Amino acid sequence: MLVRPSLELWRIIRIKAQFQVVIVAGTRHKYSVCERVPAMSASISGEDPHFEGLSNQVVTKDRFGRPVVEIDDMLFHYKGSKMAATGGRQWPKGRIPISFDGISEDRQAQIRRAADLWAPAGIKFPDKAANDYAYLQIIASKERNLTTVGFGMVGPHTCELVSWGDIPTLAHELGHAIGLEHEQSRSDRNNYIVVNIENLTKFGNDQFAKSSRIVHQTEYDVSSIMHYKQFVSDKRFVIDPEEPVFYLKEGVVVTGRAGMGSAPTKLDLEGVAKFYGGHLGS
Ligand SMILES: [Zn+2]
Repeated sequence: MLVRPSLELWRIIRIKAQFQVVIVAGTRHKYSVCERVPAMSASISGEDPHFEGLSNQVVTKDRFGRPVVEIDDMLFHYKGSKMAATGGRQWPKGRIPISFDGISEDRQAQIRRAADLWAPAGIKFPDKAANDYAYLQIIASKERNLTTVGFGMVGPHTCELVSWGDIPTLAHELGHAIGLEHEQSRSDRNNYIVVNIENLTKFGNDQFAKSSRIVHQTEYDVSSIMHYKQFVSDKRFVIDPEEPVFYLKEGVVVTGRAGMGSAPTKLDLEGVAKFYGGHLGS
């Protein structure tokens, strides 16, 4: 069922006080250890830039009028004068309720298949229940994938999708919902890959901006589901699709493929399990 923004906002206001208690209870012992802070740009706050060298971050509004910043397929909520102190964090108990608004059964099944790939890390994606006041709202898009990074607030968290037939990409988007940013944005990535800057457009170059706030839960994983592919066909990003967008540094051994493969890797799952305060398989 499509929920109208006005109704949704009214409900958010109504339950806000109640939910804040839940957030505090769920985060007290955890966030000081593995807090993941969302993007912050020099152009927004003038301090502590999150993505180095990224020039085009602007604050826009989402469908509910909430201030947000979009970076590639990631959406970050913005609050006050700083990028949200909310956002990019763990969902309570690793539980991410999903609301399907006007999404066909076939597409819902695709999402569930992608969601199951994260189950070994202890992440659950149940259907939204009536008392789930924070949830991932799956929306069909004509043109793009765009997902809110991590848990941020009461209310709907955006997950706009266009890649319905592509389970790895759906798993990648759900990785953002879990709280992950792009692997190649890690501050230590130059130890593992060499970005082929000459083959990137300005827009493509922005996608490789390093993020100083990504918390490294595991060693760098070139095969991460959150890593860009080595070859990109989209001419918005690359000049020559036949050429790679990055090379592996000499001595870097990859067991799978370089760039995202078909599913979250063991390191992806380990990292998420750790991020949520658990262990793989626990
Ligand atoms: Zn992404």
